[in-house]
Amino acid sequence: MRVLDGSERPYVDLDSAATTSAAVSVARAVHEFGPWYSSVHRGAGMRSRVASARYEEARHTVLDFVGADARTHVAIFPRNTTEALNILAFRLRLAPDDVVLTTAVEHHANLLPWRRHARLRTVDVTAEGTFTVEDVVAGLDASPRPQVLALTGASNVTGWVPPLAEIAAAARQRGVLVVVDGAQLAPHRPVDMTALGVDVLALSGHKLYAPYGAGALVAPRELFAGGEPLLVGGGAVSAVSFDDVVWADGPEREEAGSPNVLGVVALAAATQDVLAQGWSAVVAHDRELTWALDAELAAVPGLVRYGPGPSADRLPIAVFNLPGMSDSLLAARLSYEFGIGVRNGCFCAHPYVGRLLSLDDADVRRYHDDVRAGRRDRVPGAVRASTGRGTSLRDVAALGEAL
Ligand code: PMP
Repeated sequence: MRVLDGSERPYVDLDSAATTSAAVSVARAVHEFGPWYSSVHRGAGMRSRVASARYEEARHTVLDFVGADARTHVAIFPRNTTEALNILAFRLRLAPDDVVLTTAVEHHANLLPWRRHARLRTVDVTAEGTFTVEDVVAGLDASPRPQVLALTGASNVTGWVPPLAEIAAAARQRGVLVVVDGAQLAPHRPVDMTALGVDVLALSGHKLYAPYGAGALVAPRELFAGGEPLLVGGGAVSAVSFDDVVWADGPEREEAGSPNVLGVVALAAATQDVLAQGWSAVVAHDRELTWALDAELAAVPGLVRYGPGPSADRLPIAVFNLPGMSDSLLAARLSYEFGIGVRNGCFCAHPYVGRLLSLDDADVRRYHDDVRAGRRDRVPGAVRASTGRGTSLRDVAALGEAL
């Protein structure tokens, strides 16, 4: 792709952590589904029956992809990770005094839904933006014991991958439900819920080389066996009168309204596309780009890097600032002068970015006041470069040169 400024420069996309454009095989799967385009679970015609079957097959494809057992687990198709976690937090029917243990690393999608329904206890991070298994265990063992551990599989800010298996084992030993925000991890690493001991996983298709609008919430069936769904309406019910409702069984109960069939077909195809590439190739490419990012950024005089060092388990994401230049100016200059697309700001993870930038409580209060007063440019932030399957070493080198 070329930059649209008449210069014919190639465009360098370093924003895969935000979203990824659809893979060719995903676009093909959607195209091939075209003749079957129709309503699902609502029509008796052949197209509807085929579309419904494909939609239901996609549940199995996604369950397989994340190593969940279809006999015990269900795959629900919300719009994205945010919706998935909102549905879950609502459906767990927590009491306002129940404790959800979460961490300072989380994206707002894994903080705000819990904050709405329960009390948050947060595992804090070091200046590098990490915590240890022991830190989580301390949070699990504090009184009262949490009902839920809500943890990210990988940070969208620093790319840090917490030691999920050890943490999940500690939580499960204590009878705490393990919920993982897999939005960043799922495109980069194989996620086997059974092997990792993860109870619930949420992910977004648009970060996994499928289009926007379809994600997955994979959870034990019993969590959704009774009770009212978050969204109510057609499709979520089996019988309705003015004074009685019989809710639908299974995942449909959580999917009121006409579902995003094309998005779900695309999501299923995207999972197959990763498997066709092979996880070892995906992981090796990520590793090479992580090293390249580290090397390019280390060579920039004065650049301030945030997050854990090279020995930590990380995805190919780097977050940084240049002294004397705001994050928004730096991101804009990378775009307008060099045709490089990055993201800047707080990446929907304000508490985490606050920790990385060493903001104290007074700083945070001040910028909240600024924002309330309409001075949004006062929010401190950083610049993030992130890579995906289509990113080349040349792209990363272009960033180094530009900086
Ligand atoms: N969690 C993480 C770690 C993310 O990176 C994102 C997207 N930036 C989300 C949750 C939310 O995903 P979505 O916007 O697709 O709901």
